Formats: sequence, structure tokens, C-alpha cells
Amino acid sequence: MRASTKPPCDACEHATAPHPHAPAAPPPRIVSTRGRRRQVDTSSHFCPNPDCAYRGWAGWGNLRANGHPNGGPWQQLLCVVCRRYFLETLGTLFHGKRTSVELIVRVIACLAEGLGIRGTARVFEVDPNTVLQWLVEAAEHLQAFSRHFLHGMHVNQVQLDELFALLSAVKDGEVNEAEAITRLERTPQWVWVALDPESKVLLAIDVGDRTLAMAQRFVHHVAQVLAPDCAPLFLTDGFREYLTALLTHYGDWVQPPRRQDTGPLPKPRWMPRPQLLYAQVIKTVRRRRLVRVSHRVVFGSLEAVNAVLAPHGWHINTAFVERLNLTIRQHVAAVGRRVSTLCKGEDGLRQQVAVFHCYYNFCLPHASVCQPLPQPESTHGTGSTTQWRPCTPAMAAGLTDHVWTLREVLLFRVPPWPQPAGV
Ligand SMILES: [Zn+2]
Repeated sequence: MRASTKPPCDACEHATAPHPHAPAAPPPRIVSTRGRRRQVDTSSHFCPNPDCAYRGWAGWGNLRANGHPNGGPWQQLLCVVCRRYFLETLGTLFHGKRTSVELIVRVIACLAEGLGIRGTARVFEVDPNTVLQWLVEAAEHLQAFSRHFLHGMHVNQVQLDELFALLSAVKDGEVNEAEAITRLERTPQWVWVALDPESKVLLAIDVGDRTLAMAQRFVHHVAQVLAPDCAPLFLTDGFREYLTALLTHYGDWVQPPRRQDTGPLPKPRWMPRPQLLYAQVIKTVRRRRLVRVSHRVVFGSLEAVNAVLAPHGWHINTAFVERLNLTIRQHVAAVGRRVSTLCKGEDGLRQQVAVFHCYYNFCLPHASVCQPLPQPESTHGTGSTTQWRPCTPAMAAGLTDHVWTLREVLLFRVPPWPQPAGV
């Protein structure tokens, strides 16, 4: 497979860096030499003042806790360099809201667990428009949170799939799958997912139509999450536009050698990187029953593909993201609903998917990546002695060291650029 030119990707052409770069040199750290140890941990906070040299550097020692103004719930912080005061909620959706934090957290948790906007509004007796407003703000925050942690990743495999939001209608026998796909090809009701099957981290998730442009946008997003030198094994279904999208983002210009000693050099060709592996899993469905699964190695060799899968006892045919699809249907209300609901247009599908992305990676322990405790602790009573540490996909991938609560995530002030490691 080769192309003479690089296939166009809209996201590449209008590329913006996923992370703004930090200013060249951070200011010196400030170490407090006087007084008792500080009682309030300010290490995840940073000065917001654009005119301050310490802006954006978290845990740089320039912040002091300054109590709770007017007896309010939030801590006030002081930057000792620029003398600016700010609340610990600055930049989160709690800033400037008088609604109780618990209510907002529970509303977002309900949405993350898969209850729809109207259902959530009824449970908490809140106006549905208020729920939607909080969802929109939370989604923006959680997207920034995900971007902050998911970058420069090294993974061995990526599984890509488009989950088709109409599935329950197919299941109910109202339309057959082929009919539904034709009808929905151009509707923005596809949930695109990219999963690292080893850590179970959801690398990217998006909502859109099922077209080449969307495949390009999605693979572009996946490539931004992965380290620039990481070219993993990609596994997809038989959707043909993945091939172009993968070739675009995992290709290089190659200068073919001259055929004769003289004459002009042949034109450079855009070729897949030599280490790129790509296999498709093609499922044949007849009368809503899976009749055959076959595979096709597109880039690389079958031996190389199997070498990546073998350590897990996996084959091309078995390794696929269906388990995740089920989880998404349970956690994203608009997905897995009947077609009539979807065609009327469910508000907030994109936002709910963004909330799910973060919730799934950072807050939900995943059964298959739980880690045994180094020292099995004896349990009270007659329980077994083996203890398992709850582990989220983000922990399995080494991105964080603990299970985040949704409250913690929503209160996390996302720094404007990636912070140095070990802070
Ligand atoms: Zn400052």
C-alpha cells in the first residue's frame, strides 16, 4: 500500500498544538524557611495572574493559604510574588456558584453513570436546562483534565471502533443493521472509540458521522495522545477509511531510488512507516447473527501482529473493543436508546461522552486491571486473604497513582501547560 501524496487531513492542516508550551525557563522554586509547616496543601495550585512570573507553575512554593473569606466553603490562596488573592475553585465549574458542591457533583455523577439529562433533573428536582448547563461546563473541564494527563503515551496496541448509537433499535428488530447503517451513515450519531486493550485506557472518544473526514479527525486525535515515536499495532473493524487515516498520520515521505544512473529522481512517495502494524477484523452478520469473523493484515506481517498479541494469549479475532461498547451503552444515556429518541436529537451527547471519557479512565476501577496488594492483608472474619487494590485504567497505564473521585476531578485546577515530572 502506498500513495504518491499525503492524504489530506483537516486537523493536520489546521493544526494547533494539543498543549501550549511552557515558557522557556520556570522561575526558581520558593522554599519556606520560617514558621511551622504549612497546614494547607497548595501543591496542585498555581498562580492565575498572567503578569506574574509564577503563573501556571503548580507546587512552586509561591502560594500561601489565606483562610476562608466571609466564612465561605472555599480556601483563599495568596501568591506571595504578585500579591494576588484567588479562590481554590478558580477555573472550575464551582467558581462563582452558590449551589452546593454536593448537588453539582451528584448531578454530574448521575450523568456519568448513564442517567439522561431529564431523568437526572427529575431525581434532583433541578431544571433540565440547569443540568444541561452544568453538563456543558463539566464536559469542558473534564476534557481539559483528560488532555492534561493523556499525552505522550507509549502503548503496544490501539483498538478503534465506531459504536453505532442505533443498536437498540436493531436489537428490537425495527430495522436491520445494514439498513440502519445506510440510513445513519451521515448522521452525527456514531461514537468513535480508541482503546489501549492492555491498560484499558480509553485514548480518545468522539461523536460524529461515519466518513473519511471523521476517521481522519479521530486518528489525528489518537496520534496526539500517543508519543510521537509510538507506532502501535492498530486493530479496527472493516471500515475502509481507517486505512487512509492511518496512512496519513503514520506515514513518511520516502525517496525511491533512481532506476537508471542518469535522469531525474523519481517523485517522493508517501509510505506507511516500516514499523506500523495494522490489521482489520471483519465480521459478517446475517439476520442479526454473527456468522463469520475473518481478519486481514493491512500493514506489516501476520507474524509481527501475532507477536504483539501473543503475550496476552490474544488473537486478532478475539481482541476487540466490544466489552467497552457495552460499558459505554450503560454509561452514556443517549447511546443505546431507541432510534426515535436519537432522531429528535438528544441534547448533550457530545458532552456526556466527554464526561464518560474522564470518568471511565480516572474514576472507575476496572476489574481486569486490578492489582494484587504487595502484602496480602488478612481480612476480618472468614474472607479470603487475597486483597486486590482497585485500579483504574489510568493507574494501569501509570498516569496517576490513585482512584480519583468525581469531586476531586471537578475541583482539579488544570494547569495551562504540562508540569515537570516528579512534582
Ligand atoms: Zn503570582
